[in-house]
Amino acid sequence: MRVRFAPSPTGALHIGGARTALYNWLMARGNAGTLVLRIEDTDKERSTPENVEQILDALTWLELDYDEGPISQLSRTDRHQELLQRLLDEGKAYRSTATGEDVRKFKEQHGADKGFRGTPEAEGAVRLKVPDEGSTTVHDLIRGDTVFQHVHMDDPVIARADGSVLYNFAVAVDDLDAQITHVVRGEDHLSNTPKQLLVYEALGAQPPLFAHLPLLHGPDGKKLSKRHGAASVQELRDAGFLPEAVRNYLALLGWGAADDQTILTTHELTEQFDVARVQKNPAQFDVKKLTWLNGRYIREMDVDELTKRVEQFTGRTGLREAVAISQEKIGTLADFWPLAGFLFDGPQDDPKAREKWHDADHRHALVQAREAIATTSTFDVEHLEVALREVVEADPERKPKDVYQPIRVALAGTTVSPGIFESLAVLGRDESLKRLDAALNHA
Ligand code: GLU
Repeated sequence: MRVRFAPSPTGALHIGGARTALYNWLMARGNAGTLVLRIEDTDKERSTPENVEQILDALTWLELDYDEGPISQLSRTDRHQELLQRLLDEGKAYRSTATGEDVRKFKEQHGADKGFRGTPEAEGAVRLKVPDEGSTTVHDLIRGDTVFQHVHMDDPVIARADGSVLYNFAVAVDDLDAQITHVVRGEDHLSNTPKQLLVYEALGAQPPLFAHLPLLHGPDGKKLSKRHGAASVQELRDAGFLPEAVRNYLALLGWGAADDQTILTTHELTEQFDVARVQKNPAQFDVKKLTWLNGRYIREMDVDELTKRVEQFTGRTGLREAVAISQEKIGTLADFWPLAGFLFDGPQDDPKAREKWHDADHRHALVQAREAIATTSTFDVEHLEVALREVVEADPERKPKDVYQPIRVALAGTTVSPGIFESLAVLGRDESLKRLDAALNHA
């Protein structure tokens, strides 16, 4: 099996593109196949080196490696010209100066579904001759057969008048030369496929098999965009998702197990992935589900590994203890700092929290808690828990939160933090007392 991922470097790698890359990768890795990376950079204005870099970075981040490439499509210009000339010489393609306007007029006269045929000329763009009769059938591993009647197909333009070749020609030539066996790509290319099949036929070559992946939608049924939380791999990365969770989620998206989401190892994914089981309906990318799955990955991760990821993400070091006590409470790497940053940077400033929990009613509890924290024999989670439970029980009117929330607000400045005993233990006695005293001085 030989598959390929063929992004156009006209922007960031979209999540849909990442899914296409992943499915090709899973096919290659699950079938002892080869994955070819081809950069379709023939659109010289929109393809920039920065965009290529971004795509390669995104693939690296997702740990999707390739076996051949990256091959620049532009670097294959000579080969494209050679085969273009062959089709012209054999009369399978012709030059024509017909413009889009001519095609429009033709349709007006003959009806919109009548295929346009140009008149061969000495100059102009190159069009491929579509046979007048018969049809071309796209056999798709996901969608089954789609029949395209030749009478309805326009002779497609395969090269501009200046000789530069267009996508439908270049893609077929490149896939052919790379001996691609399976073309797996987005559904937006389905209507291009009959044109490409005709290119293969004109070249006297056997086409690969095709599988067109359904589009990605947001939960509202609209095309996936930034509004849905993220649209590109870079955005997912910046939002603190783990690449392995993203891979897992994308792999299951629109394929078998989507509803009863589970954690599958890369090995299990490559074993189980079968492109023929991908659903035809648009797949829904739900950032909430990804967050849930990401949280599971975080909770199951080794603390040292998670610490490494959090330190990379935040650019800070020495976070291990704080990560260990936050692991149960964060869904993404980005959740860590807002939750636990107070351990390093001091309390946040949430006046509402102070107003509510450092009022006169809670002052006595806070004084007693300070005393317990100052005198507990050993400063660890177990002893702190025992000592503070005694403070709660000292007054039958008190609920646990009447003691714990004032402490939390004193330490963190807000009402969200990792566990209170754990936070105290990480801060240490001196720093904890300093913050409690500061709170008491204000209260
Ligand atoms: N370069 C095309 C794109 O990024 C994909 C071509 C293909 O997979 O055939 O949409």
